[in-house]
Amino acid sequence: VIELRGVRKSFGELEVLKGIDLAVTRGEVVVIIGPSGGGKSTLLRCVNLLDPISAGQVFLEGEDLTRPQVDLNRIRRRIGMVFQQFNLFPHLTVLGNLTLAPVKLLGLGRQEAERLAGDLLSRVGLADKVDAYPRQLSGGQQQRVAIARALMMSPHVMLFDEVTSALDPELVSEVLDVMRDLARSGMTMLCVTHEMGFARELGDRLVFIDGGVIAEQGRPADVLDDPQQARTQQFLRKVL
Ligand code: ATP
Ligand code: MG
Repeated sequence: VIELRGVRKSFGELEVLKGIDLAVTRGEVVVIIGPSGGGKSTLLRCVNLLDPISAGQVFLEGEDLTRPQVDLNRIRRRIGMVFQQFNLFPHLTVLGNLTLAPVKLLGLGRQEAERLAGDLLSRVGLADKVDAYPRQLSGGQQQRVAIARALMMSPHVMLFDEVTSALDPELVSEVLDVMRDLARSGMTMLCVTHEMGFARELGDRLVFIDGGVIAEQGRPADVLDDPQQARTQQFLRKVL
């Protein structure tokens, strides 16, 4: 579904991604770990070309996103993204947050959008919060709304960038539960996370990124229990 070939990304003089090759198949859950500054967020942003890449190619469902004539807005609708900071619109209710983009961008009817929003809010356990404003919600609730909002666009792929890192520890599991449901429903997911338990349980593959390259990858249990590279060992000693 997603394929990166030789992706490089520089900010000025600084080369952050130094040739990434990564293919993600339909329904696969790929977990990305690695030290701060290693390029994990940059990599996710390259998948939906939020930033233009410096070299290489990105394919989504067989379409080359780096071709100049490609309609990026159309492509991006197939990719849902959730960040560490929830990025909800503070002046809109939960319902308003969920229905805005599908009504505006997909031309979905308001009633249909509201029905879909209700379904998705039930799915993330927040059916009773439709009329709440973001500031009236806990961090975990806001993050679940952010996930539901991304799902409103019926994405084919979901990208998660440290979505539990800003949460109090007791709120982490409610967000991971939603991600677990999503993974089990067959969603293709690319997740940057520090939650090694999640990686082990749900990841089909674990990718360790350090210094802008994939330093090691494999089945999560294999990489976590028996890392082959010295820098993976060093990193895991610090985080486990
Ligand atoms: P963290 O675990 O802290 O989130 P990360 O692996 O996600 O780290 P990135 O955010 O991808 O790392 O950043 C990789 C490098 O790219 C860092 O050195 C960062 O300073 C640099 N960088 C990221 N975005 C920009 C930008 N817009 N302009 C300039 N440099 C940037
Ligand atoms: Mg990051």
